[in-house]
Amino acid sequence: MTSDPVSGRIADTIRAGIRAQQAYPVPHATGFIKLDAMESPYALPAAVRAEVAAAVAAAPLNRYPEGDLSALAQQVRQAFGVPEAAGLLFGNGSDELIHLVIQACCEPGDVVLSPWPSFVYFDIAARLSHARFVGVPLTADLRLDLPAMLAAIAEHRPKVVFLALPNNPTGGLWRASDVQAILDAAPGLVVLDEAYQPFAGSTWMPRAAELPNAVVLRTVSKIGLAGLRFGYLAGHPAWTTQIDKVRPPYNLGVLVQAALRAVLPHKALLDEQAARLRADRQPLANALAELPGVQVYDSAANFLLARFSGKKDANAVHLELKTRNILVKNFSSAHPLLNGCLRISVGAPDENAALLAALQDILSP
Ligand SMILES: *Cc1c(COP(=O)(O)O)cnc(C)c1O
Repeated sequence: MTSDPVSGRIADTIRAGIRAQQAYPVPHATGFIKLDAMESPYALPAAVRAEVAAAVAAAPLNRYPEGDLSALAQQVRQAFGVPEAAGLLFGNGSDELIHLVIQACCEPGDVVLSPWPSFVYFDIAARLSHARFVGVPLTADLRLDLPAMLAAIAEHRPKVVFLALPNNPTGGLWRASDVQAILDAAPGLVVLDEAYQPFAGSTWMPRAAELPNAVVLRTVSKIGLAGLRFGYLAGHPAWTTQIDKVRPPYNLGVLVQAALRAVLPHKALLDEQAARLRADRQPLANALAELPGVQVYDSAANFLLARFSGKKDANAVHLELKTRNILVKNFSSAHPLLNGCLRISVGAPDENAALLAALQDILSP
């Protein structure tokens, strides 16, 4: 295609790694029961939405966002239990904060390390920043392999270690003593990614200001506000001050800020919705585990990882669910440890029932 004036220049200009990479897939989902992305199935009540609409209507769109975010910060601290002494950074989703941490810490070739499989974006963001990603395999039963983690940390001396607590896509929550052992061994910064903390009931946040080499990362995406794109990072102010230098100056738009400020007074509602999903998790796990050839892993998050080894494999189950308008995430070829695995968000009761009915039908002998 050298005669094509565009593709020749693309080949000469766009990084080889980018050309070889697939864009992050976001499937078309209108009309589907959406159990693939750990969103909350619950919408905000109309009264709260009206408050958001009013707040958004009043936002000055002709102006750049305020530089002083201390009022929003105060609200976030109060709503999410961020210690007064901790520094606080906001991101366009926690995905952006993952980028900022890596950009602030890594020279080209420096190592970013995480147990693996875990959140794919740790790997993607590291590579985009010319860092080297090292994934340390979980055990065969998808638990943290602490000796392997400590050996890999000693060998690779990572600038950044990411720990998803609970882990995505497996759902497991690593023991606090194991996390502490990693904190003690890590030569650089450890990011404690608590995206699913509201479903786990344990957190490192109260210690965010004291931890000498760790920051706590959170998002509102999994508690009903995925469309907002808002994440926050808390840690010793000496860390957040450095990482803040990498942040694009106006990364949080006025609409996001206005909407968030209107929603946060109703945080109890979001907690209630999260509690409902948490309560529905184990019954769904039990029902899935009763299906022929299905193994379900313990989860402290708002999703379940299930391994399919019955009469239909995970790829077939995934496809058949899709033809019945149910979306789940297929991890079957993502990593050898996830062979046959689908990740299923806990949905609203009617969605969980529809999923179970479909699976019963698909897997019936
Ligand atoms: C979903 C997820 C995030 C990303 O959250 P956003 O705030 O929506 O960007 C971060 N970390 C983990 C482990 C996740 O699963």
